Amino acid sequence: ASGEPKSSPDPGGAAEGGPEDAGNTKEDESLLRKLIHSKLISSKANLEVLQKDPNSPLYSVKTFEALNLKKELLEGVYKMGFTAPSKIQETALPTLLADPPVNMIAQSQSGTGKTAAFVLTMLSRVDISKNYPQCLCLAPTYELALQIGQNVEQMGQKMTGLRIGYAVRGERVSRGQRKDDHIIIGTPGTVCDWAIKHKCFDPKLLTVFVLDEADVMIATQGHQDQSIRLQRMLNKQSCQMLLFSATYDDQVMIFAQAVIPRSPIVIKLRREEESLDNIKQFYIECTDVEAKFQALSNIYGTISIGQSMIFCATRKTAAWLAEMMTKDGHVVGLLTGELTIEQRAAIINRFKEGKEKVLITTNVTARGIDVEQVTVVVNFDPPLTQDFQPDYETYLHRIGRTGRFGKSGLAINMVDGRRSLSTLKSIEKHFGRKIMKLDADDMDEIE
Ligand code: ADP
Repeated sequence: ASGEPKSSPDPGGAAEGGPEDAGNTKEDESLLRKLIHSKLISSKANLEVLQKDPNSPLYSVKTFEALNLKKELLEGVYKMGFTAPSKIQETALPTLLADPPVNMIAQSQSGTGKTAAFVLTMLSRVDISKNYPQCLCLAPTYELALQIGQNVEQMGQKMTGLRIGYAVRGERVSRGQRKDDHIIIGTPGTVCDWAIKHKCFDPKLLTVFVLDEADVMIATQGHQDQSIRLQRMLNKQSCQMLLFSATYDDQVMIFAQAVIPRSPIVIKLRREEESLDNIKQFYIECTDVEAKFQALSNIYGTISIGQSMIFCATRKTAAWLAEMMTKDGHVVGLLTGELTIEQRAAIINRFKEGKEKVLITTNVTARGIDVEQVTVVVNFDPPLTQDFQPDYETYLHRIGRTGRFGKSGLAINMVDGRRSLSTLKSIEKHFGRKIMKLDADDMDEIE
């Protein structure tokens, strides 16, 4: 085997973890989530209203019919396969579509239906008979802008004559060239160029302004300033201003309040708590990485495992393990950080479709990915933060289950050496849940 690690990829050998971290930006993570979320994430959590408008009481709807949408738009919604509004849409949509328009800040995790909500709002407010931009949507990257555009095209498929313009890098315009697209979707920099430098459209005529992925947006220098610059050019009386974010910490909140002034409605859908209840956690002590593989091989040979994910500290270990498992007769997928986002999404989607039963990945690459049908999670190396401390959050997210997954699960931690053992002991202590020791030659306890 090539590149066989002779010793365990100890945190001491940090160099290998580094490049992967660098390649995993917030934008990448966000796009990856979009590419693998083919369906809605349902939530049992209650929607919280952090700030209300005393003049317009909030109400919610249970059907799309109740929204009195244009006929073509309702058809578009059904064409997308939506039968009922999602949790956040139930409350957001009546307010988003109300007249006079109300400004809104909304936060909920990725996959809960935010994009669909603001796309519906733009489409229901646009007037196709007017040949100038009326809705503007800002996104952090080219790829994310295209994702939104696809939603607009799908949902607006029955709206004949609808035109969408993409203000993204590479889309050249000449000074004074007037855009006749109804909806413009773009990144802040290019949109600024279009609006200010080239004067391709008049921001004063916009009726809907959307800022998507605010938390990703603020991570990029310049996006905040450009967004605020654009927002200042809008007509405050006639333009509805909306901001969406997957997370809502102080930094996002300050930015949100700056771009969406005039007492917006602020709603929030809490992420369901993950817990380690119903999860059997084990650890196996080994002498080195070869022994870890042997023990793992033994487990896979002993118990019947549906779909499993195996997490490694470095690409090298992941690639080596994939090779060893393949030789052992397993059909494995390998997901590592040097792949493009599209390649990663393709591998995850194959795994989701059950084409592979085992997915091997590095700690960093798989951050934040949910694969619901996984019942066994193997930490071939314990999860560590960038400064090599036990990464409790990642451990919980990987192994923990929420109400939506329900099922019970199995977590197996491979340990070699004092360092990984002490990491594991910290994790055990942190969660106050016993991680049982398993004898590599006797798997009876697992079953
Ligand atoms: P977010 O913007 O919060 O990440 P999206 O609007 O992209 O979420 O929705 C996530 C997935 O759920 C998409 O595949 C989308 O087509 C789908 N979806 C959105 N709203 C609904 C709905 N009401 N019913 C069914 N599927 C929906």
